[in-house]
Amino acid sequence: MEARLRPALDLDEASAALHDEAVRFARAALAHDLPPGGHEHDFIRAAWKKCADFGLFTLALPKEHGGGGAPLANLVVVMEALGYACRDQGLLFSLNAHLWTALMPLVQFGSDTQKRDLCGPLADGTCIAANATTESGAGSDVCALRTLARRHGESYVLSGEKCFVTNAPIADVFVIYATIDPALGAMGLTAFLVRRGTPGLSVTRTHEKMGLSTSPMADVVLEDCVVPTSARLGREGRGLEIFEHSMEWERGLILAPALGVMRRLVERCVEHARTRRQFGQPIGKNQAVSHKIADMKIRLDACRPLVYRVARLKEEGRPTLLESAVAKLQVSESYVRTCMDALQIFGASGYMADLGIERELRDALASTLYSGTSEIQRNIVAKSLGL
Ligand SMILES: Cc1cc2nc3c(=O)[nH]c(=O)nc-3n(C[C@H](O)[C@H](O)[C@H](O)COP(=O)(O)OP(=O)(O)OC[C@H]3O[C@@H](n4cnc5c(N)ncnc54)[C@H](O)[C@@H]3O)c2cc1C
Repeated sequence: MEARLRPALDLDEASAALHDEAVRFARAALAHDLPPGGHEHDFIRAAWKKCADFGLFTLALPKEHGGGGAPLANLVVVMEALGYACRDQGLLFSLNAHLWTALMPLVQFGSDTQKRDLCGPLADGTCIAANATTESGAGSDVCALRTLARRHGESYVLSGEKCFVTNAPIADVFVIYATIDPALGAMGLTAFLVRRGTPGLSVTRTHEKMGLSTSPMADVVLEDCVVPTSARLGREGRGLEIFEHSMEWERGLILAPALGVMRRLVERCVEHARTRRQFGQPIGKNQAVSHKIADMKIRLDACRPLVYRVARLKEEGRPTLLESAVAKLQVSESYVRTCMDALQIFGASGYMADLGIERELRDALASTLYSGTSEIQRNIVAKSLGL
């Protein structure tokens, strides 16, 4: 089966070898059990470290910050392979959040000191990062955030409440978006790098989620949290630029593992449709079933180039606002649809926890919400068309 699908991956020889190496790595190092049903909160720090040791984070880093100088597409190849061979999508989601909304903005906007202090530990897996943007009154509308950053000489005092922060329970450092003055709207947004343990920062309510249950999430409260001006990421009032920069990366590339999941589901459905017999024949002999699987495969093939396109454009240093929105929208909606189709093809057994199909669906459903909902991605596409 793998051999037949491999040509469809459309990878050159070196990329195919990297893909296979990452699949072997995931099968050997990330094969931990996931209790059926979810809600287990089993984030495994050792698995995170193994991914870092495999070189996952350094694949994203430029040479001057410890990267190996490989093309960015290599990271997509590896993420796709991990999605294919590792069932722990919560872990992969957490790794991606760390990568795109903390490490990349640090590389782009961090001061020399911030980069010297943090790039190494964030890349070698000893330090985990979280991004705290969302607030109860500021979800899609990030400019409505109310966490205040009051300047006092050489420090800022941060006060506010953040919610739905991926990695918060395990994070060592937080990228926090605040405003120096809510009346300034977008012009007031400012980003900060705040270490866990800074007085006034507390990780509060943890969240039980529908899926991605091994990706820990919590709220973060800032109560007169004093940070030096050197903790500011980028310039005062330029937080929106940093946020949008990290969203371009995240939206464009966070769903690379989903490509691997979709391919795994195509394979599982083909196998099931060939072997499950009803009415005296394999269910795959019914066009209603075989066409569903054909559509899964077509969707996958339509999605892959969108993600690789973002990697190529980013590699060339080009903006990808539109391309990232297109990739995020198309891959997330295809991912959900593919999981739904797989569930239907497996019938009642797909609905049962032990096969893991229902887990794939629960994990996939979040993808049309995080990093900007599907509606927000469509808004970006429409705006780029002049609407
Ligand atoms: C698994 C997961 C992980 C997350 N991780 C993080 C994290 O690490 N850090 C963080 O800060 N946040 C995180 N979030 C929060 C996420 O960024 C927000 O949920 C998202 O931005 C949407 O905001 P909201 O949920 O408040 O929805 P709302 O903004 O309230 O939107 C509700 C509905 O209205 C629609 N809507 C809103 N405005 C418009 C509009 N202008 N046009 C059309 N439709 C509109 C939306 O599309 C949606 O359907 C995470 C969320 C999830 C699900």
